[in-house]
Formats: sequence, structure tokens, C-alpha cells
Amino acid sequence: MVQESLSPSNDSRERTTPKGAPVVLVDAVVLTMDDERRAYTNGFVWLEGGCIRGVGPANQLHTVPASVRRRSLPGHLVMPGLVNCHTHLGNGFLRGIYDEMPLEVWFAKGMWPVLGAMSGAAGEAGALLSGLELLLMGVTTTASGEICTPNRETLDGVATGVQRVGIRALVSRIVMDSADESSGAQYIPPEYRETPAQASDELRRLQRAYASDRLSIGPEALGVLRCTAETVQAMHALARDTDSLFTMHVASSQDERDESRRRFGHGSVAELERLGVLGPRTLLAHTIWLDDGEIESLAHRGTGISHNPVANAYYGAGTARLAELIERGVRVGLGVDGASTNNSQNVWETMKMAMLFQKQKLERASFGGAEIALELMTRGGAAAVHKEREIGSLEIGKRADVIAIDTRRLALAPSQTLISNLVYSYDPTAVQEVYVDGELLVSGGKHRTLMIEDVLEQGRRALGDVLKASGLDEYMATRSRWKWA
Ligand SMILES: [Zn+2]
Repeated sequence: MVQESLSPSNDSRERTTPKGAPVVLVDAVVLTMDDERRAYTNGFVWLEGGCIRGVGPANQLHTVPASVRRRSLPGHLVMPGLVNCHTHLGNGFLRGIYDEMPLEVWFAKGMWPVLGAMSGAAGEAGALLSGLELLLMGVTTTASGEICTPNRETLDGVATGVQRVGIRALVSRIVMDSADESSGAQYIPPEYRETPAQASDELRRLQRAYASDRLSIGPEALGVLRCTAETVQAMHALARDTDSLFTMHVASSQDERDESRRRFGHGSVAELERLGVLGPRTLLAHTIWLDDGEIESLAHRGTGISHNPVANAYYGAGTARLAELIERGVRVGLGVDGASTNNSQNVWETMKMAMLFQKQKLERASFGGAEIALELMTRGGAAAVHKEREIGSLEIGKRADVIAIDTRRLALAPSQTLISNLVYSYDPTAVQEVYVDGELLVSGGKHRTLMIEDVLEQGRRALGDVLKASGLDEYMATRSRWKWA
């Protein structure tokens, strides 16, 4: 039997471990997040062939062949990798740009000129920044929506960045086509529109070029007001035909709710029900402004929801009805949203805020809990992206997406209240090891192949180019109230 103990990042034996080689993690606290809610104060998790081969208490370790390498993780907690249900990887370098941005700047320079200035290199830079940030915090699966008009190669860049990071990703290719001049803020200029046929050709090209076990690419119709009904239904059909996820941004603001009622006579989700696109491959982001009937529809259709509490607060867009969504049995996960509207990719903060904002809205301290927040970010997220049979818990046969957290941190002490501390006190840097498909991607809190300096430099360059090309650099120069010299 080979026995190893954890020694952070410079363990040369660890760095030469072949991809997905059999290993059993031992001497750790293990949270399975399974249906039975099993947790072991001293347990093991056996990873082999990209899957979980065994999990249980230490006294069952004899069921694992002695030939499997033992990796001892004293002082660590081992759990399934986190599932982030919503971000925009390609805009990873746009952090801080949109803070408190006045509406006139948003329209003149914030949206269309920035999209016009995007490129393949920028998409890759953004995906490297956000993808790496997510992975280092323990996220092994992320959903991500990407706008790639007018520059289609943006998504090629994102896919390349995702592959370099190694994170499991469900990327959605965003389509928008609302040509109605009376639609005000929802109006889409011609060069950013696509027909369903163009969107289909481009999606299939991307799937042929990049799709793998770890990276899937599906269609997204941006919203009920930014897409025609024909496009929403065509993108849903395209998801069915290509066996991929169908994503939308929905009920994101009170304005959207009001405009939707004016146009359709009911809310956005009711409109999607009418169009027949709610169902077992649909993931909706935000879903803040819902009536009771819409919540019932979401539960009945098995629609996945990404609740994004921090991004919702960034825009003062309202607090979603999380308590009712959970109570009605809707498939709810959590999402950070993009760096341009959060700005962090800190999933631990999102877990905490999901609970706190809801307590505040309900004026009820007894709502939720750290265990519930962790479930939403693992098994809940897996259900929301319709992958609960593959990810979200440590169970035999599921993908070996596993993280190890060093619990010997000030923010995580004392150990008697560990689960509460993980969520309400959190230390994102405590994530030391991240496995995806049994492949060790993060060791000692560091990515094993990506150099952080290179990622930072690519991001710096991408932002410089985009600021200049969009004209936002002039706005940025005047934004601070301090006298910079
Ligand atoms: Zn979003």
C-alpha cells in the first residue's frame, strides 16, 4: 500500500501523477451530498477511471484494493465540486467597468461598442480569468452564457480558455434578434441580430470544433423581450436536436415584468409556458419577478433556475422568491453571474448572500441555513443544469468531480461549527485540491499548468484593447472622485 500525506503544491510526485489515475482520499471529513445526506467525520472517497468508485466511512476502507494509492488529507473536508449555474466567462476582464454606470453611458458605450470590440483573444482572456477564479474556489462545473455577435470568434476564444482551465462547462451561445424599434432598451441593432438558421449553423460548427465530455455548447435565447417568439422556439428546438441545454435570462427586473405584461398580458415565465419551452432541458437565469402561477409552472415543467443574489443586488433588481421556489420543489441552483455584474466569481459569497438577502426579505432569521446553501451549490446546481445523474454528489458511478478544503483556517474555526463557518464565514483560498473527472487540476491551491502571471497579463491586454476601441477609456478616466497623479 502506498501512503501519502498532503504537502501543498511542491509535491513533485503529485505533479507527475497521470491523468485520472486511481486514488483514494482518506483521513478527511467527507460530505457526500447524496439523497440520504450521509456525512462522515472520518471517511474515504475512491476515484478511478474518471468516476467515483467508492465512498464511505473509514471502517469500510478495506473494500478498496490495497493497490490503489492512498492520499491522506488530515484536517481537510472532501466534498463534491461546486456547481455554478450562471456566469459569462468571456467577460472576465470587464470587472469594475460597469459599477454605478449611468444609463446614458451604458447605452452609448457600455453595451454595443464593448461587444463590437470583443475578439477571440479577448474571449479567451476573459474565460481564463473567470474560469480559473471559479476553479480555484472549488467550482468543477459552470454554466456560462456568451454573446458572440458581431464577433463570432469570441466564443472560439472562450472555448479555448475553458479547455486550458479544465473546468467542466455548459456554455450557451446567446442569440438576440428583437428588431422592434418601439422596444426601447430591448432593441437590438441589426449587426447584433442573427436568424435562427445562422445561429444553428454557428452552434453546430462550435459543437464540432470543441464539444467534449467536459465542454458542451448549447443555444441561448437572451430573453423574451430581446428575442422574437420564433427565435425562442427555434433555439429550444435546436437544443433538443443537439441534445444540449437551453438557456435564457428571464424575469431579471421589474421593468421586464411590466413590459412583458404590457406586450403579452402576462409575465415572462408565463410567456415561455405559452411558447412551450419550459421543460427538462431548460435553465433560466435570475427569475426574480414571478407570480404564483409562474412558480407552479417552473415546478411542474422541471425547469432549472439559477438564483443569482449578488448580481441581482448589483443592479438593485429585486430579491427573488427563493423560499417559495425551494418550497414548491423547483430545481434551484446558485450562480455568480459575470464579472461585469457581480463583480466577483466568489461562489462562497453567493451562498452566504443567497441566505442573508432572503432572511432580510422575509424578515425571518430562521430561513435557510448553511447546509441548505451548500446543497443549492452542489446537488441543487446539478439538478438545475439537468446533470444530477452525473454530478453534484459523491456517489458511485458519478463523475469524479471532487474538492478538498483545508479546514485549519482562522475563518473556518472553531471546528465544531465547521459547516456554518464554511458558508457564513468562508475562506475561498482554503480550497486546496480540485479534481475534475478524477484529474487533479488544482494542488496546494494552485493550478497545475496555468501560470497566473500569464492569465493576468492576457486579461490586462484584453481590457486595454476593449476600453480603447469602445471609447470607454475616456469615461473611466473621469470616474474617480480622487485626484490621481
Ligand atoms: Zn447573466
